[in-house]
Amino acid sequence: MKCSKCNNKAIYERKWEGRAYCGSCLSEQVERKVKQTIRENNLIEKGEIIAVGLSGGKDSTTLLYILHKYFSKTNQIIAISIDEGIEGYRNETLERAKKLACVLGIEHKIFSYKKIFGINLDEIPEILGEKQKINWCTWCGVFRRYILNQAAKAINADKLAVGHNLDDEVQGIFMNFFKGDLSRFQRLGAKPGIIGSKKFVQRIKPFFEILEKEILIYAMINGIPFSNAECPHSEEIMRRTTAEMINKLEFEYPGTKFQILNFYEKLRPFMTAVEIKENIRSCENCGEPTSRTNCMACELFDKLNLNLIEKSLQ
Ligand SMILES: [Zn+2]
Ligand SMILES: [Zn+2]
Repeated sequence: MKCSKCNNKAIYERKWEGRAYCGSCLSEQVERKVKQTIRENNLIEKGEIIAVGLSGGKDSTTLLYILHKYFSKTNQIIAISIDEGIEGYRNETLERAKKLACVLGIEHKIFSYKKIFGINLDEIPEILGEKQKINWCTWCGVFRRYILNQAAKAINADKLAVGHNLDDEVQGIFMNFFKGDLSRFQRLGAKPGIIGSKKFVQRIKPFFEILEKEILIYAMINGIPFSNAECPHSEEIMRRTTAEMINKLEFEYPGTKFQILNFYEKLRPFMTAVEIKENIRSCENCGEPTSRTNCMACELFDKLNLNLIEKSLQ
């Protein structure tokens, strides 16, 4: 199989395009698409401070690498990592994160649960004193989003770039569909979450149109240090089942993932009316936007006898 662009030996085939690519031509394709996504969705404006959520996995390291390559002259880029205190996992991923930030000469800030909240994620079941299993991903997700947002605000970031790829995006579309969660369903896309709120640093997803597989190949070709370690607490059964279903469809009908995303993007403008009707108020404790009296973060912190208000990074 030869590269459709330069005739060198191809290493990867895009079945839905009927084309194959060598390593350097695929890299070029990936970079071009990322730049197009950023431009078409106005993700990064000249002069903005861009925080990059850097976990040390392939997606976030590749994101930092590409943003540094194309935006370091016009924008200040700062990497943010979070240490949840997960034994046998986070140390390895943090090492890769540090290495990449160092090689690229990018400022890198690490925030740990232990320092900010006084506890590691691993300690939560003991503190709750419950024998029953806790939903790790819920706890961790709320903690992580909270710190990332606070950290991005503390460094005056205009945007917070995250490494979500096309596979993550399509899984998100289906999972919210399965759960009947219209509110979350309509807040996916290149600029997810609540747009235009001063309380949230706007998240951006420059990779939301890039396949996970292509990011992996890109990272390997370009010698980006990343970790393959998987979180030992991860029990996202529904996500795994959904991913398997989508991958099976993609295998049988190449291009399915793009079709699903395209359909979603066409549907999105029609969903804005629902957003207005929905009752968004401020959390009575911390003031963050929520649809309830107290936000999810405050409810969880309450269970640990921690008060969110005192745990600001600023
Ligand atoms: Zn080529
Ligand atoms: Zn709150």
